[in-house]
Amino acid sequence: IYTLGILGGGQLAQMLSLAAIPLGVRCVVLEPDPQAPARLSAEHLQAAYTDAAGLDQLAQCDAVTLEFENVPTEATAALQGRVPLRPSPAVLHLSKHRAREKAALVEAGAEVAPYVVIEHAADLSGALKTVGGTGILKTSELGYDGKGQARIGSAAELRAAWKEMGGVPCVLEGLVPFVREVSLGVARGQDGTISYGPLVENVHAGGILRRSIFPAASSAAPGGVGTEQHARRIARSVAEAWDVVGLITLEFFELPGGELLVNEVAPRVHNSGHLTQDGGGVSQFEAAVRAALGLPLQDFGPLLPCGMVNILGWEEGDEPDWDGLECLRGTRLHWYHKANRPGRKLGHVNVVGESREEVQSRMDAVERLLGTRRD
Ligand code: ATP
Ligand code: MG
Ligand code: MG
Repeated sequence: IYTLGILGGGQLAQMLSLAAIPLGVRCVVLEPDPQAPARLSAEHLQAAYTDAAGLDQLAQCDAVTLEFENVPTEATAALQGRVPLRPSPAVLHLSKHRAREKAALVEAGAEVAPYVVIEHAADLSGALKTVGGTGILKTSELGYDGKGQARIGSAAELRAAWKEMGGVPCVLEGLVPFVREVSLGVARGQDGTISYGPLVENVHAGGILRRSIFPAASSAAPGGVGTEQHARRIARSVAEAWDVVGLITLEFFELPGGELLVNEVAPRVHNSGHLTQDGGGVSQFEAAVRAALGLPLQDFGPLLPCGMVNILGWEEGDEPDWDGLECLRGTRLHWYHKANRPGRKLGHVNVVGESREEVQSRMDAVERLLGTRRD
């Protein structure tokens, strides 16, 4: 029996540890919140991420991975050299900071949206013009689900938004006229073996992922290769350039001509990969566990058309129709045991079907029962 340490005990840790059990892997999470989701499926060390006794226990594991990128540097520094950290602190250092991440993506040969790093008031002048006249200001650190972001349409708005964010380091990105968003997970073993996840198509609203579907509709990338091949090439370049061992997920914007810009990289399993739990095949969670522990890898992902709908926290009086959801054929509810707060990710529903169309109409039915679709 292997043991895998996980920094963070949220829903991703819950699902990693559930996927680990059939592989003969026991998970141990370090997580300060006594009510965190993974307490049900893993051994829970309830302590701060920098707690010496907790870190000592993680250091006894066969490998340590993480479920969020904002793990304090002290925690990874305390583990380094004592236990394999996958992905490595170096990858984490890049992916927790937007400006560093973008520079490292460009260096790896990937394309990103036009951007300007904003660190001083002087960086503001001309910045909006440089990125094309409309943009999104994003804090370099700590943002998720569209938090720490503002749409910018004028130089005055840019100044006001940066002030509103407290003048912290930011990047201003040009607003990308994408035709769709896609994502791809890639796992890399210590020997350099690469395995890919499915190319998934994602729909966001208000900066939050609402639904994902597999397979992504095919479209042509430049050079005549399909979008999936194009995305795989970029993912491989990044995984190799960053010397990733473990699993990372790339989010892309697809442009009208089929070009792919990398939006951001998560050094971990990703919300858009949750549909891999129920489409047959190896899930992203199993792939991440295998990659962290050096177990054999195979391409992961669904064998059937499938999709995922996120369950976001509801306003009072708008509670979803749970009985309806649990009885809907071709769907499975995954619940994170978190308290309701409007807009918070509380669970998801995975959907399978014979075709993309069937999956899509089942996802519509799920959204009606969640109360997020009225037609
Ligand atoms: P998460 O980590 O939860 O994915 P985040 O807070 O890091 O979210 P981003 O991924 O940067 O946020 O942005 C969230 C969404 O906002 C994107 O998936 C996309 O729909 C939209 N968006 C972000 N940046 C741009 C951009 N430059 N142009 C157009 N749309 C954008
Ligand atoms: Mg992000
Ligand atoms: Mg994102």
